[in-house]
Amino acid sequence: MHADTSLVSRLIAACRQVIEDHADRLCSLDQAIGDGDHGTNMVRGMNALSLSVPALSELPLPQACEEIGRVLVSHVGGASGPLYGTLFIELGRQMQADGNPAACRQAFGKAVEAVARRGRAQAGDKTLLDVLLAIQTQWAERCDADLIGQSALRAARLTAPMQAMRGRASWLGERSIGHVDPGAESCALMAQAICAQLSGDAA
Ligand code: ADP
Ligand code: MG
Repeated sequence: MHADTSLVSRLIAACRQVIEDHADRLCSLDQAIGDGDHGTNMVRGMNALSLSVPALSELPLPQACEEIGRVLVSHVGGASGPLYGTLFIELGRQMQADGNPAACRQAFGKAVEAVARRGRAQAGDKTLLDVLLAIQTQWAERCDADLIGQSALRAARLTAPMQAMRGRASWLGERSIGHVDPGAESCALMAQAICAQLSGDAA
């Protein structure tokens, strides 16, 4: 199965839009507990992905995912680029070419494990991993795009009372408490945008 051109380009367009719309918020969240560049990093990554859409649509879905990961590694930068990159590269490597939903869920689980290994992070460390784990849990319970999107947004909000244990924010110790993690927020925004597109498809 080749990557469904219209689906891949629609999902990338939706992610780019939501990141563009929230770039200032992502930068201010990162100003509070990091170095203020997360919105800029993500916008750069989304712009690069948009330019890659014609090449991506020539590829079978697993290879398209791997290529998305490579584009994110090269263009997002910071700590988040390699982590988002790992997510998609591993997703592509684990994915079956036929796009079977149960296999996709398993592949996503392996990809989330790879992100945790790469960042040496675990649940509750106040990172984008908290959102990925919430998606994984909700997906295992019920494969419903609306519920998965909502669980991602809720997980991002729940990072606010946590103390950061990984990345720049961890250098602040207890002073990281009280702010939503910027990577968790970007992850939830993109997950929600993707789920909204997929739930529109199902309707
Ligand atoms: P940088 O911190 O290098 O400026 P960004 O601002 O783009 O990079 O990304 C920061 C986000 O990356 C954090 O909010 C957090 O969600 C995520 N992050 C940082 N380090 C880790 C890690 N070790 N594991 C998981 N996520 C991490
Ligand atoms: Mg930063």
